[in-house]
Amino acid sequence: MRYTGLINHYRDRLPVDDSTKLISLGEGNTPLIQLENIPALLNKNVDIYIKYEGLNPTGSFKDRGMTMAVTKAVESGSKAIICASTGNTSAAAAAYAARAGIKAFVLIPEGKIALGKLAQAMIHGAVIIQIKGNFDDGMRLVKEVADHAPVSIVNSINPFRLQGQKTAAFEIVEELGDAPDYHCLPVGNAGNISAHWMGYKEYFDDRKAGKKPKMVGYQAAGAAPFVKGAMVDNPDTVATAIRIGHPQSWDLAHKVETESNGWFDSLTDEEILSAQKLLTEQEGIFCEPASATSLAGAMRDINNGKIAEGSTIVCTLTGHGLKDPDTAISQCTDEMININPVMDEVRDAILNNM
Ligand SMILES: *Cc1c(COP(=O)(O)O)cnc(C)c1O
Repeated sequence: MRYTGLINHYRDRLPVDDSTKLISLGEGNTPLIQLENIPALLNKNVDIYIKYEGLNPTGSFKDRGMTMAVTKAVESGSKAIICASTGNTSAAAAAYAARAGIKAFVLIPEGKIALGKLAQAMIHGAVIIQIKGNFDDGMRLVKEVADHAPVSIVNSINPFRLQGQKTAAFEIVEELGDAPDYHCLPVGNAGNISAHWMGYKEYFDDRKAGKKPKMVGYQAAGAAPFVKGAMVDNPDTVATAIRIGHPQSWDLAHKVETESNGWFDSLTDEEILSAQKLLTEQEGIFCEPASATSLAGAMRDINNGKIAEGSTIVCTLTGHGLKDPDTAISQCTDEMININPVMDEVRDAILNNM
């Protein structure tokens, strides 16, 4: 049967009925790729799988939540949606609003949004409101304005977002035949880690999985409220997607940590970028900086034994590398080779660089 998006696929487990008009771009059903070269480099006996959420229609996992949020907004008669965003939510909101024929308003922090994401919001025709402030300011404003204007909030405080996002856990259990031992994710607002936990619990309760994973949330050191145990007022990191100091799912995520026996930890920008590069060079998988936080953390905790040998680990790669070309290029120090258009010079370029 033709795959027509995650709501249709999991409609029995989602809050829709037969009369609901689905707003879908075929999201979900993303590849689970086993790493081959990095475990060998670590010299540890572990199975690491990458859930490549960058292959969703707009290039991030936000599509899983947005298909649900926009479907429900349209069902309730809403003509406009609004979100604050570090970039990917605005890209997804813009695309799904276009699909639904409604208006999208996106609040983004001035100058702190990756180029690809900005291009998406613009080309899909969202109304872009740039604020002299950060994501947390934008989130506060969105909550305030929703009482004064006819717009539906599609940030992850919208419960339908998490419903859509929990389906990633279903897919993983189905592919592996059970839940993994550990599931590592980058954490910003902590909606996604909470949604995954909901999904794993649901499958465990319905005996579709024999166990539940330990949930491990990794943050950027400059934006690590869960590690500090307190909100952070001026978050800063190269991983702009998780440049969040006041997470919206604070309580939910703490419940996830306790219930799953997991933990939070943080990584420096250097560690994040070097994991991003390692993944591209060793495995051929390109994710955006924030996404690499999950792998960077997993590698560290595999090395120090916190994640035991013999474990099965899933790392979510939340967004595609093409989202942030500037950061990617700025990491590549090898110079290009400039030649004249003659065979000898091409040959020399090859032979000198084998
Ligand atoms: C939104 C986002 C995150 C953070 O997800 P939360 O649900 O806010 O914790 C991480 N990585 C990328 C690429 C994102 O777009």
